Amino acid sequence: MLKDEDRIFTNLYGMHDRSLKGAQARGHWDGTAKILQNGRAWIVDQMKASGLRGRGGAGFPTGLKWSFMPKESDGRPAYLVVNADESEPGTCKDREIMRHDPHTLVEGCLIASFAMNAHACYIYIRGEYIREKEALQAAIDEAYEAGLVGKNACKSGWDFDIYLVHGAGAYICGEETALLESLEGKKGMPRMKPPFPAGAGLYGCPTTVNNVESIAVVPTILRRGPEWFSSFGRANNAGTKIFAVSGHVNNPCVVEETMSITFEELIERHCGGIRGGWDNLKAVIPGGSSVPCVRGENMKDAIMDFDALKEVGSSLGTAAVIVMDKDTDIIKAIWRLSKFYKHESCGQCTPCREGTGWMMRVMDRLVRGEAEVEEIDMLFQVTKQVEGHTICALGDAAAWPIQGLIRNFRDEIEDRIKAKRAGRMSAVAAE
Ligand code: SF4
Repeated sequence: MLKDEDRIFTNLYGMHDRSLKGAQARGHWDGTAKILQNGRAWIVDQMKASGLRGRGGAGFPTGLKWSFMPKESDGRPAYLVVNADESEPGTCKDREIMRHDPHTLVEGCLIASFAMNAHACYIYIRGEYIREKEALQAAIDEAYEAGLVGKNACKSGWDFDIYLVHGAGAYICGEETALLESLEGKKGMPRMKPPFPAGAGLYGCPTTVNNVESIAVVPTILRRGPEWFSSFGRANNAGTKIFAVSGHVNNPCVVEETMSITFEELIERHCGGIRGGWDNLKAVIPGGSSVPCVRGENMKDAIMDFDALKEVGSSLGTAAVIVMDKDTDIIKAIWRLSKFYKHESCGQCTPCREGTGWMMRVMDRLVRGEAEVEEIDMLFQVTKQVEGHTICALGDAAAWPIQGLIRNFRDEIEDRIKAKRAGRMSAVAAE
């Protein structure tokens, strides 16, 4: 279990003062200029040594990502863009950072931008996050007033500007290149890659896009050392992590814990157990709505990290853990996700535009049992034709929940079709 003195986010629940004064009392903005004096290469090396992997879902090593930025400018400016769009259903961790501990992010933006030779940083915040935007803007204003950002930030000699941009509430703008398009004032449609943002990102300039949590942990890692951070979790899965647990647990919560904690410990220690006990656990989506669900009996001992969750056929994603007990109509739950992805598809590539609607309509019939058993395989094949054949990962995000459903709960889908055919309507989910 993570000890209180090892928590990076000491005001996750908003019990303390979130202003600059309060943040400084908790150790933030301490010796920031000294950190910058160590130079860009030192910061990138420290981040690599810490083993931090991106907290936005893909888990790409953060230090390595930073090292892709040009070492010397070719005349173009470089940018850090922070992805605060957090729109994945079930995910609500960055929200807590921004509204209760915003200075962790502002300080992280300065250090990360400096490490990538960027004099400007843009934070793109989700349209629905009104209060979070206010809290974050207040923190940015305080930092400007105190000389921590702006000209000669922290008296380091480094000029740094930070801008907060409010999105309009489209899920697809959480995809990094769609986010860049939106920042440029265009429709939020993902770009083809390559070129990757490190080569040509915002306004065609070298850009790194990082998640809020990935940036907010940076100052503490550099203050306490990469060895301290990597002492948590298993090899290749280092650090502390914010988990957002929702659904059928007794106390849904957002909590910072060590990476690689077991699912059982996470739930027992922080969420008061599963509603109705462990025998009542049906399925878990361990990493936000786009990752496949796992059967309850395979989840109890599962280790909550990038590599271990792959072994149970899913993924850590954003560590948004959605728990479903045996009262859940799992077919309907996954249908609802299909409807979401169909609605959020930007429509520019055919497998996603057509496939998400097609999959949703088949799911619609599976919920009612009005399908042929053979259609289950057909649906699975269609998910395979969408997966990996689209410009951005929304196609995968729409395919994986259905694949997880079919892999894990095929018997339930078949039973419903048979029940419908036999006229046993009570066995069929209510519409
Ligand atoms: Fe748009 Fe979907 Fe293609 Fe992504 S996969 S670019 S959301 S149509």
